[in-house]
Amino acid sequence: MAIVLENALLADIDPVRVEVGSLRLDAGRIVARGATVSYEGATEVVDCGGAVVLPGLVNGHTHVYSALACGMPQPPKSPTNFPQILEYVWWRLDRALDAESNEMSARIGALDAVHCGTTTLIDHHASPDHIAGSLDEIERGLAAIGVRGVLCYETTDRNGAKGRDDGIAENRRYLEHCWQKENHRFAGLVGAHAAFTLEEETLERLAELAKSFNTGVHVHVAEDPCDEEQCSSQHQVFLIDWLAGHGMLREESVFAHGTHLDAEAAERVRQSGAALAHCPRSNMNNAVGYAPVKAFGRAAMLGTDGIGSDMFAESQAAWWIACHEHAGLSPGDVLGMLAASARRASALLDIPLGKLDVNAAADVVITDYRPATPVTTDNLPGHFVFGLSARHVASVIADGRWVMRERVVKTCDEPHVRRDAARIAGRLWERMAKIT
Ligand SMILES: [Zn+2]
Repeated sequence: MAIVLENALLADIDPVRVEVGSLRLDAGRIVARGATVSYEGATEVVDCGGAVVLPGLVNGHTHVYSALACGMPQPPKSPTNFPQILEYVWWRLDRALDAESNEMSARIGALDAVHCGTTTLIDHHASPDHIAGSLDEIERGLAAIGVRGVLCYETTDRNGAKGRDDGIAENRRYLEHCWQKENHRFAGLVGAHAAFTLEEETLERLAELAKSFNTGVHVHVAEDPCDEEQCSSQHQVFLIDWLAGHGMLREESVFAHGTHLDAEAAERVRQSGAALAHCPRSNMNNAVGYAPVKAFGRAAMLGTDGIGSDMFAESQAAWWIACHEHAGLSPGDVLGMLAASARRASALLDIPLGKLDVNAAADVVITDYRPATPVTTDNLPGHFVFGLSARHVASVIADGRWVMRERVVKTCDEPHVRRDAARIAGRLWERMAKIT
């Protein structure tokens, strides 16, 4: 099943490099790259027409469970702060999720990702009235479309001891499942909501679980000032010290947001090897503030926090808000965040992602982006934040197979799936309306 992509403007993001060339893909990997590659035995030769070809993009933090939330009814009470946004909106949606809506949310989340050239999702799932097996449902939904996933269940103490125990058990079960499969398409992290809904004992159990599977913890950190405030008042320590003291600062961990960490805390995260998922659109949507992204250096990734998986739009938002905040970033720094997301997913899935190199995963995005200005190694970041967008994504290959071709998804009957999704979303919203 070798595929040759020729006449491509190969645009690497880690490190940034642009050159005209060809790729040969076989058995799920890039097996050759160069001005010319072998055509022998190729089942397909695709002329990319000189357009930009990118590695599949990685969403560093998302919640596909919110994929059926778009347009849902307004909450009975309007939230006026971040804890109320959780309480009135998201903690009612997640309670209403069941097996059917979990899997369909993942399918729709994956479809939206593919249309944007995103082929790997680092996801954080919650469905507190239906926990056991929920990560398999998310995996099935993503796998049906053909994207990769790093999954976890959002453990919390907000729903009592049973909810906590079931959350920990689901993380353990899924980690064991991935441990056995080792297929480079799915992996697990240990999921936790946020310090302000977790007890000390729970953190210790989560850290122990992460340690036993040699993986990290995926947790929201300092998204809103309430996280630090509660830690200080309840435990009389700084949030970062509390997390560090309970084994959360692991090399493989993913900390989402970090909006209210100071430069010193950011440096500790960076030194630990944990990654920070910067989610600029979500942070603006929730009016929680701007993360000290620069202080995280190469540890700063980019995530959408459930607002789709359009990493072009997220990159642009990261750039606009950095300018607005006088944060001292360059477009290259923004591209660096996409590269960091890919590095984190690569380590967790044990396969090179975000690269167009030999032996990297055959996750490739073919665009129809042929701008009127030159695209070079020096100015690719500028094209990323001012030119390229999801509308340029024409075809997507993931794990060596066509997932989308000329904007038609090949792995499912998309109109049919979307019709089913609308029906399931209606039922989900009805259940949600009954939750006060
Ligand atoms: Zn989140």
